[in-house]
Amino acid sequence: MSAPNIETIVSLSKRRGFVFPASDIYGGLGSSWDYGPLGVELANNIKNSWWRWAVYERDDIEGLDSSIIQNRLVWKYSGHEDTFSDPLVDCRDCNARLRLDKLEIDPADGKATCSNCGSKNLTDPKDFNLMFRTTVGAASADDDPTALAYLRPETAQGIFINFKNVLDTSRRKLPFGIAQIGKAFRNEVTPGNFIFRTREFEQMEIEYFCRPEDAPRVHQEWLDSYDQWIQGLGISSSNLKHYEQTKEELAHYSERTVDILYRFFPEREDEEKQWDELMGIANRTDYDLRVHSKKPEDADGKRINPDSTEDLSYFDPQTNERFYPYIIEPSTGVNRTLLAVMMDAYEERTNDKGEVRVILRLKPELAPIKVAVLPLAKNKPEIVEMARKIKKELQPSMRAVYDDTGGIGKLYARQDEIGTPFCVTVDHESLEDNAVTVRDRDTWEQERVSVDALRPLLSERLN
Ligand code: ATP
Repeated sequence: MSAPNIETIVSLSKRRGFVFPASDIYGGLGSSWDYGPLGVELANNIKNSWWRWAVYERDDIEGLDSSIIQNRLVWKYSGHEDTFSDPLVDCRDCNARLRLDKLEIDPADGKATCSNCGSKNLTDPKDFNLMFRTTVGAASADDDPTALAYLRPETAQGIFINFKNVLDTSRRKLPFGIAQIGKAFRNEVTPGNFIFRTREFEQMEIEYFCRPEDAPRVHQEWLDSYDQWIQGLGISSSNLKHYEQTKEELAHYSERTVDILYRFFPEREDEEKQWDELMGIANRTDYDLRVHSKKPEDADGKRINPDSTEDLSYFDPQTNERFYPYIIEPSTGVNRTLLAVMMDAYEERTNDKGEVRVILRLKPELAPIKVAVLPLAKNKPEIVEMARKIKKELQPSMRAVYDDTGGIGKLYARQDEIGTPFCVTVDHESLEDNAVTVRDRDTWEQERVSVDALRPLLSERLN
């Protein structure tokens, strides 16, 4: 099935409480979004699924949660102060501010054209640094440059500067990795497309340290296992593809980067333009550990860092060698993953009354609510009481809700639309036979189950 467009998901998100425009009552704040009751559950489930897969189900990854605000020198030596910028141009005809690297080039004259009005009357490009600035302590950065700090634009650097701490305390040997989930901030020039590109977002990153000669193989292995993980979230392989960055596109630290693209824009006529980046896997070489290392006597003269107090090289006791490990970095956005998961799960189906119903076929593991307990008649106190009791019994082992705010058909439809895998209905007969009806979201089939067997049955199906 082809995915719906982003607008469909925006409308479902707002209608049902997945994602709301941020600061809405004050007119909003460009491309900022708040995650509502269902959105926060879905995002947490994606993060938990990733953490389980990346950290618990492997033997070679440790977790970390580093600061959002670090010493400014981190960003000086990482290269972000100098190079983390987009080339900006202004259109002299319509005043749009644009990223030069995203504009179409007219092959006839090699000139960039404004994506807003088609004009070629553009200013010369200026580099615009994407890091958000802030100040630490009571002094303002204008008075005191030592107070200047940045909100991190990626979680990765927090991992590199903790390489030695984790290595020493966990007594690891190469190869091993460090995983982190956290917010990142980029003052994007052209944010948009809902939660696809925002100025505040969340990343799930692994920095995997290995011997230089192993890096190409390890890179490929991560690529293969990410394909598996993404498809395990329920995203169809026909909506995924790889993109190998060209030499010109590679970041200065990267030897090879492969992006995994998702079909975020299926409505676009040009097939090429339907795809955009879901995540990237880079071979960052030994760049990061080198640049953060104190090594005034650096033998190969590659980089001298007079500010760091540590050498982040690695000593291999088996070969008696000291070297800087290579780093393979799979980096993915929580928000883009959530968007892809919702797009891929979205289905419209016509029921036997000819009404179109939305079904969000989320993997049970990701569904914000696992089971809804519904009384068939809310004016019958015994039925209500029994339904509430069943909900209470289920809630320690699964996210359960009780709902009596409509007729049963409407209640089922509401749960289908938010991806709840199971509905449990308590009816008049339940009072007699201590059994309930379990309805399946995907097949709409119903079966009678005794209340005593309910929890084990649901737990088994949810797992
Ligand atoms: P793009 O080319 O789309 O700007 P990028 O290549 O700069 O992305 P990376 O620096 O590789 O992105 O960041 C890793 C991941 O973080 C991306 O694949 C994406 O999932 C997520 N990400 C990056 N920037 C944003 C953003 N502004 N909003 C939401 N997610 C983002």
